[in-house]
Amino acid sequence: MILVSALALLAAAAPATPDAEIRAAAERLAPAVVAVRRDLHAHPELSNREERTGHLVSERLRDLGLEVRYPVAKTGVVGVLRGGLPGGVVALRADLDGLPIEETNDLPFKSQVKGVMHACGHDAHTAILLGAAQVLAGLKARLPGTVVFLFQPAEEGAPVGEEGGAPLMVREGALDDPKVEAVFGFHVGSWAASGQAGWTDGPIFASSDAFTIEVEGRTVHGAQPHMGLDPIPVAAEMVMALQTIVSRQIDGRQPRVLTIGRIQGGTRFNIIAGRVVMDGTMRAHDPGVRSEMKTRLARTVKGVAEAHGTTATLRFADEGNPPTVNDLALARGVGGPALERVFGKGAVRVEPQMVAEDFPSFGSKAPYFYFLLGTRNDAKGIGSVNHTASFDVDEDALPLGVRAMATLAWDFLARKR
Ligand SMILES: [Zn+2]
Ligand SMILES: [Zn+2]
Repeated sequence: MILVSALALLAAAAPATPDAEIRAAAERLAPAVVAVRRDLHAHPELSNREERTGHLVSERLRDLGLEVRYPVAKTGVVGVLRGGLPGGVVALRADLDGLPIEETNDLPFKSQVKGVMHACGHDAHTAILLGAAQVLAGLKARLPGTVVFLFQPAEEGAPVGEEGGAPLMVREGALDDPKVEAVFGFHVGSWAASGQAGWTDGPIFASSDAFTIEVEGRTVHGAQPHMGLDPIPVAAEMVMALQTIVSRQIDGRQPRVLTIGRIQGGTRFNIIAGRVVMDGTMRAHDPGVRSEMKTRLARTVKGVAEAHGTTATLRFADEGNPPTVNDLALARGVGGPALERVFGKGAVRVEPQMVAEDFPSFGSKAPYFYFLLGTRNDAKGIGSVNHTASFDVDEDALPLGVRAMATLAWDFLARKR
């Protein structure tokens, strides 16, 4: 009873989030947020090359009176908004990059850059977060703490040989000064309809580890395979054996995927191939399952190769992405309740997805909460999945995204006080 009344007192002392004002501001700003999204959509830039985008973001944040650090992690931006009341520090994150895809949508703001497209909705993320910055800047006098806006490059992965993305933002101190106590992020997509948000209080996205396997052969006439060493049946056996890691060696209750997405070898129908190269990706929700799969992948590649008297090498593309696992207390205490106020019954618990994000890198410094913003609209014919040439987002969801991010930040700071 004593605990309950102490909590009630604390709750009463905390300045409540101005829901109605956030809503009104987000709705008033909606046309401007749409305009920014369309401008970014027409001018997509690839990972670590977001020069125009980063510059635009830094200028907008300066116009709003934020302290701006730019560039961070190559083309990224960090904006700091100090509220009029003392309190904690919370970070909100968006990503800036497009993808090497030729857009097939027939839109007035269609990509003007050949072969590059905002096919993952990061244009919407950036526009939404700029909108949230404007909403919160307008209410700054009553804001009980500090909000750090993270605009990170290269979420889709830095070009080969380059660093980038969330890990580089963290290494360059994006969360250190002021010291961030929680990070909120989100992703748009056709997982849910416009008007809905999806969240979990545990895993929401999977880990991802991209790898390449090379099987060595010895080329010879196709009629005399015994004179050489044929890597094609070895690779075929490897593809099948790798699936038994997923189906026979990992606990069936654990989500996991192993995909070989590309296989290439040989030159002609009657020549034994000299080598086979395979690219794949591995996904899991549990860090233990992730490392177990990596170990078994290496063992299987080596073992199958050896059984055929050949060698194979396995290489991971980079350090990969850890699973995105929402902090339980943050999800139940702040994330879920805030989304339920903004989206009403549209805020739903979702099953974790097998896609991945570099967002959990921010988790090395602070607990985080990540949610899905539904942008599918069947009536408007908007439903293609992320990373396709016809991907689009229902812009009616943008003000909801603005409200959600502003509300999450304020709720966290209000609770802290
Ligand atoms: Zn993507
Ligand atoms: Zn994305």
